[in-house]
Amino acid sequence: MGRKNRGQSPPRSAATGEALDGAINVAGSSTEPIKEPTPPMKVFYCQVCTFPLEYCEFGSSLTKCKEWLKDEDEDLYNKYYSEEALAAKIGTLSVAAQSALEQSTSKAEAKASAKATLALQKKLASHIIIKRIERTKRKHVTSISGLEAFDIDLKKAAKQLAGKFATGASVSKNAAGLEEVVVQGDVADDVRSMIEKGDGVLKGIPKENVEIVEDKKKKGE
Ligand SMILES: [Zn+2]
Repeated sequence: MGRKNRGQSPPRSAATGEALDGAINVAGSSTEPIKEPTPPMKVFYCQVCTFPLEYCEFGSSLTKCKEWLKDEDEDLYNKYYSEEALAAKIGTLSVAAQSALEQSTSKAEAKASAKATLALQKKLASHIIIKRIERTKRKHVTSISGLEAFDIDLKKAAKQLAGKFATGASVSKNAAGLEEVVVQGDVADDVRSMIEKGDGVLKGIPKENVEIVEDKKKKGE
């Protein structure tokens, strides 16, 4: 691209100076559509890996990319992945290059899927601790920790709980230095049932992962 123009002499002569200036500043505005800086071709982006479709194969989710595209636009899918398209492409690769490509793709996919599995395991292993904390005989606060492992925004959770119980709720650091949501009042059982229902932002937490613990004042305090 651009080779033709570069081959020409620099824009010195009076005869060509004007045209070249125009070409440099506002390319393609007059008579030469070849110089359009951006081709009017529409670029389609993959909704799975976010790259343009022709780059899916370099990502780590090709299998999912292909599934998505097949549902989304069969014509485009065929353009990239039909047997003819693959044959045309593979025809330009050596057998060794082909299997290297296949291997590296499946390796990357295995890696990505291992990562996803790990994230899932982490979630399953994470517990939401709802702690009922007795401040005085009559006054309690409830702290909820572990929500971040389920990608729950703590501030949004605090806001939702404050609204639900018409009370104060905030995000603060606990003794272990981890952030938790603290709600005024004894709302532990209600919070648990909200989590079980997947109420608002409190979604995606298996109920087996939720436990309520008591933090009572010791006698004599
Ligand atoms: Zn993709």
